[in-house]
Amino acid sequence: MDLQLQDKVVLVTGGSKGIGEGIVRSFLAEGARVANVNRSTAEGQAMEVEYAAKGQDCFFIQGDLSDTEVCRNAVEATVEKFGRLDVLVNNAGVNDGVSLDAGPDEFVESLRRNLVHYYALVHYARHELQKATGSIINIGSKVSVTGQGGTSAYAAAKGGINALTREWAVDFAASGVRVNTVMPAETWTPLYENWLNTMPDPEGTKRKIEQFIPLGRRFTTTAEIADMVVFLASPRSSHTTGQIIFVDGGYTHLDRKFTAEM
Ligand code: NAP
Repeated sequence: MDLQLQDKVVLVTGGSKGIGEGIVRSFLAEGARVANVNRSTAEGQAMEVEYAAKGQDCFFIQGDLSDTEVCRNAVEATVEKFGRLDVLVNNAGVNDGVSLDAGPDEFVESLRRNLVHYYALVHYARHELQKATGSIINIGSKVSVTGQGGTSAYAAAKGGINALTREWAVDFAASGVRVNTVMPAETWTPLYENWLNTMPDPEGTKRKIEQFIPLGRRFTTTAEIADMVVFLASPRSSHTTGQIIFVDGGYTHLDRKFTAEM
């Protein structure tokens, strides 16, 4: 299937590692031109060099998105470099365990890490996306619908992203800009591995979690998330908007009894 993404301009947040890196690489494989805004520097710069050697653009912008000026700059730098913006992928985030005990100040700080930059980027990118009849894809989390315990702020941020997916789909419908969210549950990434390493028995915990994933009893790969993102960004999904799509091997919704008996 030709996804018709050749030469489209895509801005991905947190594109240097994990799910974001998978998304960046999938868009590049489709011939898109990509800008990646990321806090750490080394991986993003290395990807820029790697793709330049193949004649492709993987433009790296360094910045911490919890500062909304970085969000503004990321949009402006992308448009300055490529002259347009077709797709925005809001991906950067961290399950930072800001709990009920943490208090209001930490709660607000966490929303800056996980929610406010999603809004800020859409705010700054809205006119370019409308000009291009573009598309927005948010990366959410199953925590928004299941809870997890001990992570109030992340749950609130991800719940907010679900709500904004519907809200923005309405805002942009008249201009043809589509807005969708992809929901990972258990995807193998540096973030996930770091979290597991805080457990007393990381390997044992990993095996236990895998037993609850109906499809293949394994973690979702970053490429599997990225494939859905790329499809949702493409004109091939031209009548899909306001949707929250779980790419999780059935982890969130399938009958627990079935998983236990498999
Ligand atoms: P990851 O492996 O930690 O990668 C996240 C990337 O985003 C890193 O490159 C990180 O930069 C960057 N980033 C994070 N916060 C940033 C900020 N404030 N400013 C700029 N860059 C920032 O995480 P992941 O597992 O791929 O998660 C990506 C998204 O998927 C997140 O929204 C997460 O909530 C969601 N998610 C993941 C899972 C899962 O199973 N992995 C499940 C549900 C939802 P640094 O290099 O500086 O750290």
